[in-house]
Amino acid sequence: MARRKKIFEGKAKILYEGPEPGTLVQYFKDDAAAAFPTERRDTIEGKGVLNNRLSEFFMTGLNSIGVPTHFIRRINMREQLIRAVEIIPLEVVVRNFAAGPITTRLGIPEGTPLPRPIVEFYFKDEKLGDPLVTEEHIIAFGWASQQDLDEMVALALRVNDFLSGVMMGVGIRLADFRIEVGRIWEGDFQRLIVADEISPDSCRLWDARGIISADDPPRELAGQTDAYTELAQRLGVLPTNVTHAGKPTLIN
Ligand code: UDP
Repeated sequence: MARRKKIFEGKAKILYEGPEPGTLVQYFKDDAAAAFPTERRDTIEGKGVLNNRLSEFFMTGLNSIGVPTHFIRRINMREQLIRAVEIIPLEVVVRNFAAGPITTRLGIPEGTPLPRPIVEFYFKDEKLGDPLVTEEHIIAFGWASQQDLDEMVALALRVNDFLSGVMMGVGIRLADFRIEVGRIWEGDFQRLIVADEISPDSCRLWDARGIISADDPPRELAGQTDAYTELAQRLGVLPTNVTHAGKPTLIN
């Protein structure tokens, strides 16, 4: 196979040049650093394979209800074809329940249902620790326009409704999640679409049976894939058990 040009390598994914202009190949690594940004630097075996499938599942679902995403199709176990976008340098977080830093910053007990989904923006800059920013900062520094922001909030809330519903259907509560948004151009018109990935790495998931996303401390790396596998199985993305039901049948 011809060597592909690497465009970008992050903690959890590698982007390669795609087969056609305007496309990229997104490769999912097993790196655990994305799930444990400040903790151990190790790998969770099989995480990339599961995140590739889970992100495909969520993005395809969003596409089917008219929420535009970068996802085109899965290529293999670890790769998917996506639309190349201009990433807006903001992480968009939607919160349904209080968890994480917001609990200490605002003094709200962990697990408190919020009066309505709260959308927050964080400036994507690792050196600065991705600080929380206001719309004023975003517009003043030109990271996005007011119209972009309105569209991002609308997109994020639609993703929240969709994801919350899908998770609720399999007994999981979506406490919060993060998305990234990209800009694409269609002639002279720009459109904002959901980009990056939607996977347990970027969601905080709770349920009665104790499955929680990789973001929730403290957890041992051993058995980490369990949470990803459990979610994939509940969503029907992975078979719960692989059995051979009878003889193989001939397919024409
Ligand atoms: N998140 C993420 N990447 C980041 C920061 C946060 O995917 O770099 C996700 C995180 O998984 C959680 C949500 O955004 O679902 C809100 O994160 P929070 O601000 O509570 O901070 P954290 O608990 O991740 O430190």
